[in-house]
Amino acid sequence: MSRILGLRIDVDTHEGMREGVPRLLDILGEAGVKGTFYFAMGPDRSGLAIINVFTRPGFLAKMLKSGAPKIYSLRTMLSGTLLPARPVATAFPDILRRADKGGHETGVHAWDHRRWQDRLAHFRKEEIVLELEKGAKAYADILSKKPFTFAAPAWYSCEGSLLHQETMGLTYASDCRGTEPFYPVIAGRPLKTAQVPATLPTLDETLGGIDQDATAFFKRMLGEVKEGTWSVLTIHAELEGGPFAAEFAAFLAKAKATGISVVPLKNLLAARVASNGPLPHCPMAHGTIAGRHGVVSLQMPAV
Ligand SMILES: [Zn+2]
Repeated sequence: MSRILGLRIDVDTHEGMREGVPRLLDILGEAGVKGTFYFAMGPDRSGLAIINVFTRPGFLAKMLKSGAPKIYSLRTMLSGTLLPARPVATAFPDILRRADKGGHETGVHAWDHRRWQDRLAHFRKEEIVLELEKGAKAYADILSKKPFTFAAPAWYSCEGSLLHQETMGLTYASDCRGTEPFYPVIAGRPLKTAQVPATLPTLDETLGGIDQDATAFFKRMLGEVKEGTWSVLTIHAELEGGPFAAEFAAFLAKAKATGISVVPLKNLLAARVASNGPLPHCPMAHGTIAGRHGVVSLQMPAV
C-alpha cells in the first residue's frame, strides 16, 4: 500500500481567488498534482475579521519579524466593512473554469464565508438552506453542472447544514476535522453523505508556535502521512498561493520524491473504501483545536 495525502484548497477571499488560485494552479501543474478546490462563491466580507481567520499572536509576530510580504492588502481588511464587499469566485468565473478544466476537483466552500462562520449557530433552518443553495446555484451558473462536494467554512457545520446536504446530491462533504472518512450520525441514524475530514493542522495554526517556519511545518506534515492513514491537508489560496508558495512547491516535490501520492479528496475517499471496507459511523461535536480561533466541528469516535 502506498502513502496517500488528500489535498484540500480553500479559497476564502477576493484576493485569494484573483492571485492565489492562478499561482496554485501553476504550482500544481508543474508538480503534476491534482487537488480539491473549495470556493467561497459570494461576497468577501472578511474585513478586519480576517485577523481571526488566519492570525494568532504567534503567527502575526512571525509574519512581522520575517518581513514576509503582507498576506492581506488594506483593501481586503476593509472589505465589507468600510468598503463594499467584493465577490470571491463569481468575480472570476474564468479562474473557476480553469481549475475545473485542469482536472482538479472543485466544490463550494460557502456563499458568504464570513456570515456562515459568524452566524451559523444563530441561523434559522431557512437561512442555512439559502446559504447552501445560493452557493450551489452560483457554482452551477458558472460551470453548468451541480457541485458534488461542499466544505463548510472554518470546518464549522451543524445538524441543519448536514441534513440539508443530504438533499443536494453530494458525493461527500468535508465539514469537519477528524481522523478518517466516515458517515455522520444524527439522532442515532447514519447519514448517506460521507464526510472526508481534514486531519492535519493548517500552516497558520502552527507557524510561529510548534513550527519555526513554513519549511518546518511542511516537513512535519510529510512525516504525518503514513501507510494506512487517510491524511487530508487543507491549504489556503491566501497563504500557500501567496507568501508561502515557494515552500508549498518544495513540499510537493518532496512528497513525490518520498513516494507520497497527493490526490483530490474524492480519490482519497475511493481509495479508503476500496482498501478498508465500509466507512465507520461517527457522531460529530463542536470543539476547539490548538491554534485556531473559535469553534469547529469534530469527528467523534465510531458508534
Ligand atoms: Zn475558508
